[in-house]
Amino acid sequence: MAKIRFSALEELAHRKPLEVPKRRRVSEIFGCDVLTIEKMRQYLSIEAFKKLEKVMIEGGTIDRGLADQVAAAMKAWAVEKGATHYTHWFHPLNGATAEKHDGFIDLQKNGSMIEAFDGRMLVQQEPDASSFPNGGIRNTFEARGYTAWDPGSPAFINNNTLCIPTVFVAYTGEALDYKTPMLKALALIDKAAVGICQYFDKDVEKVTATLGWEQEYFLVDEALFNARPDLKLCGRTLMGHSAAKDQQLEDHYFGAIPERVNAFMDELEYECHRLGIPAKTRHNECAPNQFELAPIFEEANLAVDHNQLLMSTMKRIAKHHKFRVLLHEKPYKGINGSGKHNNWSLLTDTGVNLLSPGKNPKSNMQFLVFLVATTKAVLEQEALFKACIVSLGNERRLGGDEAPPVIMSVFLGQQLDSILDEIEQKVSSKKMSPDEKTELKLNVGKIPEIMRDNTDRNRTSPFAFTGNRFEFRAVGASANCGAAMIVLNTAVAEQLIAFKKEADALIDRGVKKDEAIFQVLRKYIIACKKIRFEGNGYSKEWQEEAQRRGLSVDSDCVGALKAYLAPKARKLFVENGIFTERELEARFEIKNEIYLKKLQIESRVLGDLALNHIIPTAITYQNTLIENVKGLKEILPDVYNEVGEVQLKAIKEISTHIKEIRTLVDEMTEARKVANNSISNEVERAQVYSATVLPYLDKIRYHIDKLELLVDDEIWPLPKYRELLFFK
Ligand code: ADP
Ligand code: MG
Repeated sequence: MAKIRFSALEELAHRKPLEVPKRRRVSEIFGCDVLTIEKMRQYLSIEAFKKLEKVMIEGGTIDRGLADQVAAAMKAWAVEKGATHYTHWFHPLNGATAEKHDGFIDLQKNGSMIEAFDGRMLVQQEPDASSFPNGGIRNTFEARGYTAWDPGSPAFINNNTLCIPTVFVAYTGEALDYKTPMLKALALIDKAAVGICQYFDKDVEKVTATLGWEQEYFLVDEALFNARPDLKLCGRTLMGHSAAKDQQLEDHYFGAIPERVNAFMDELEYECHRLGIPAKTRHNECAPNQFELAPIFEEANLAVDHNQLLMSTMKRIAKHHKFRVLLHEKPYKGINGSGKHNNWSLLTDTGVNLLSPGKNPKSNMQFLVFLVATTKAVLEQEALFKACIVSLGNERRLGGDEAPPVIMSVFLGQQLDSILDEIEQKVSSKKMSPDEKTELKLNVGKIPEIMRDNTDRNRTSPFAFTGNRFEFRAVGASANCGAAMIVLNTAVAEQLIAFKKEADALIDRGVKKDEAIFQVLRKYIIACKKIRFEGNGYSKEWQEEAQRRGLSVDSDCVGALKAYLAPKARKLFVENGIFTERELEARFEIKNEIYLKKLQIESRVLGDLALNHIIPTAITYQNTLIENVKGLKEILPDVYNEVGEVQLKAIKEISTHIKEIRTLVDEMTEARKVANNSISNEVERAQVYSATVLPYLDKIRYHIDKLELLVDDEIWPLPKYRELLFFK
């Protein structure tokens, strides 16, 4: 093993950055591999184009005749660009993207081959649902599933293959992906938000949720990665003593981007731009070898597709540069992990960002309704906001090393806080005098001014208002943003619907519209106090304070998943038509299953590394020490004890660690066995694994990391943190 480590280090010493080629201007290549609606125009009749455009913008289904025309257009464009295959491209619940390529070929009776692709192939494909996580849906019903085109997201060419974004559902209709329920949630918030906008501006007919994700990731050299079975199989280091220096000096963040990385980023961005992903920002993140890429925000469905596409593109391009991308939320212990901040807002078809303070009292009132409704959504569905972001990986990240805590709270900033306080004090259920109203409106009108110098950016909050959007920061780096977007948009829609219902009831009773809105606002502001927190989310005091407030402070992630089955979640999702009961149960089961399987893999890999790599290495070194002491005894029989004191101590220490590792690995294996043999239900087994297997991972690691400090560097088999975290 040590051989692999040293040959990897040798290889690393000779790495050269790839040359950055001169590229065409971004304005020339942006979206060149995407079949945008504009390009479709060239391939379709005017009538077909109009019909398609309507579906692409407003949603709905397309008939077979139109599908055939669109398919012919897609084929013509794709084949012209050299594509040979097509695939439906979807997001199954394993978190990855899935594709099954079919050639554009059809054999004719006379034996000749033609390029074929028709409406039937465009609209539907039939992958086997049982090969993807389905939460038992296949056991109860049929194994088959089908994918159906999502015209809201344009087709694109990747690796000579025409990729058609699709939803993925079971034959019985249950969703087996993130996109299906997300599209429903986005339609719901559109309707709910338009309802509120109508109070302020009759012209608003459509509201779109916008998403700008910030993707954090680590890069590691390929040779070192290959010498670390834990990185290869689990995506994170299961062992490794901290390097003497990592991020203490804060010298990586925003520092000069290393040359090899720069070449990688250049190629990645070039690919992104070709694929229509508006990648804009790149920089070094806090931890050594940690980086970030952020795009310009887009409509949420498209943004989620683009993030999924980015993650797979990154992995592909990294290999050209002899890197591997780590999207795990916590690849290295003791330094920052990786998140994916989800910047989210709502945009009207009249071009107004509903979470941006407006120009006059009226638009500011509208802004306040959306601000407060979003805050109340987090309060009411606190448990779901947590459930949608937890995973085995994120469990390690949250609550440590500059990651937001597992406690949900909303940060609004001091200026907004005081405006909300003022509304609370000044509005009452009694009729307001014209003067009172004018004063209140005047103050509301001052919001943009007050917020102009709002540099208040609380980095410790899991859900923060950042001037013109909310930032959901607890989302993990490897996650499909869809999970968070489903909960966020549905929960906010629920509040907007309820808000309108209450305001309308007051208006029906004769209360003036603006007064009615102020009254409901006040009620919501008061209700939200529990979830609003401006202080340091990392602090111990917040833990205690949150507990006093009755917020969930539990850091047990697998336990948090239960929120999917709570009556509140059922009410939210089922009544609003986002999930059926069966779909919710399936999702819950799948999340537990993935947690369980990943933990099982980690535990097995650790057991293997500990017994077959670490212990033998420790024994080899111990034998060297024993030989040394024996030699000392031979030549210095009277004083060998004294002279060999350090060696003797090390021999004993090594023995202790070896013994502990052996015992703990045996106990961990036994814990797995007990859980596997006694519990057939995977949900229950996941909970038991979390309680009985998970704790061993850190316990075993402790002793291995101690051995790393004791054993001769020359024979240590695994690349060390200082090697993994710093390039030459
Ligand atoms: P920071 O690191 O300071 O949070 P970045 O520039 O890295 O800022 O990322 C901000 C992200 O927020 C970008 O992806 C940006 O496009 C996105 N964003 C800005 N305005 C909106 C909006 N109205 N809706 C959704 N996302 C937005
Ligand atoms: Mg950022």
